Amino acid sequence: STTIDDVVARFEIHSTDTPLPADERAAAIASPKFGTVFTDHMARVTWTSGEGWTDRRVEKYGPLLLDPASAVLHYGQEIFEGLKAYRHHDGSVWAFRPEANAARFARSAERLALPVLPAEDFIGAAAALVRTDVEWVPDGEEASLYLRPFMYASEAFLGVRPSLEAEFLVIASPVGPYFAGGVKPVAIWVAQDFHRAGAGGTGAAKCGGNYAASLLPQTQAHEKGCEQVCFLDASTNTAIEELGGMNVFFVRADGSVETPELTGSILEGVTRSSIITLLTDRGHEVVERRILLSEVREGLADGSYAEVFACGTAAVITPIGRLAGEDFDLTIADGSAGSVTMTIRGELTDIQNGRAADRHGWMTRL
Ligand code: PMP
Repeated sequence: STTIDDVVARFEIHSTDTPLPADERAAAIASPKFGTVFTDHMARVTWTSGEGWTDRRVEKYGPLLLDPASAVLHYGQEIFEGLKAYRHHDGSVWAFRPEANAARFARSAERLALPVLPAEDFIGAAAALVRTDVEWVPDGEEASLYLRPFMYASEAFLGVRPSLEAEFLVIASPVGPYFAGGVKPVAIWVAQDFHRAGAGGTGAAKCGGNYAASLLPQTQAHEKGCEQVCFLDASTNTAIEELGGMNVFFVRADGSVETPELTGSILEGVTRSSIITLLTDRGHEVVERRILLSEVREGLADGSYAEVFACGTAAVITPIGRLAGEDFDLTIADGSAGSVTMTIRGELTDIQNGRAADRHGWMTRL
């Protein structure tokens, strides 16, 4: 069968003549501001309807040449992914469940009428880039190299139909610990006037338009003193779906755990699915169901819900200390991080960073 080495060998490496000097790179890695500094190279694969996927390469990171008529600029035909590469104590570099991101990328491509990139090329491109820029992978506690694969419709044509040309790229950015001063619970604003996705829409795909739609409600959440926005279902405006960029879990006082079921309008998080597995391993009952905001409000008030947390690649697990909306403002338990939340967070980050056995085979060496 094809190995990562085989696929990486298909990428032509065009190394930059002007890499960032080592001292500047070290400074960028030591205090990275999320998503502002990028490594010296990017991986790239080109697609045309006639030739399929061609020109696998790693080249100098830099601006793209884009025709003003490129379909992506007009109709938003674009998808992306987010995953991290971790340096373990022996210096080796690993990705967490990259095949899950590759599979979700393929589902997003189908929904956005973009070509499906084979999973081996998705992982191979990430590996080719990480190997080229391996000195950029941080080794600090909870630091990692964030990988951003994405694909956009590049055909210069203003007709509204699927593009006959596309570009796939992977860029990478060093990230430090999400919570620099220790894990801190966040406040969540429940949007009751806006939705991020509806039935039959693109909510289950990771496409740029979903995030564009979340920016205004996210701004309103900030105005209300909250860090993140939580969306309700668009059909009834009563069931909790997810945050702008994270899934959400509710821990009951009896130790059972609930999370919104996948309805087609929620993004299926890789972290979400991993947490369901780890909770089940520990003997928690995990229920995926339709969860009403009214139930959560009552359960938080009467103490039957003990902990609430959000999860995603960036922060892994974020405790939620407060849930507010137009006509309610609830502190969760005493507002500090709960024990189930912190236990699962520790377990997951230990696996990712190579401090605990990878018993589910989630880590892939790049
Ligand atoms: N929901 C949304 C809308 C997201 O953007 C993300 C981040 N990809 C998630 C959930 C969490 O997904 P993951 O655990 O795969 O990062």
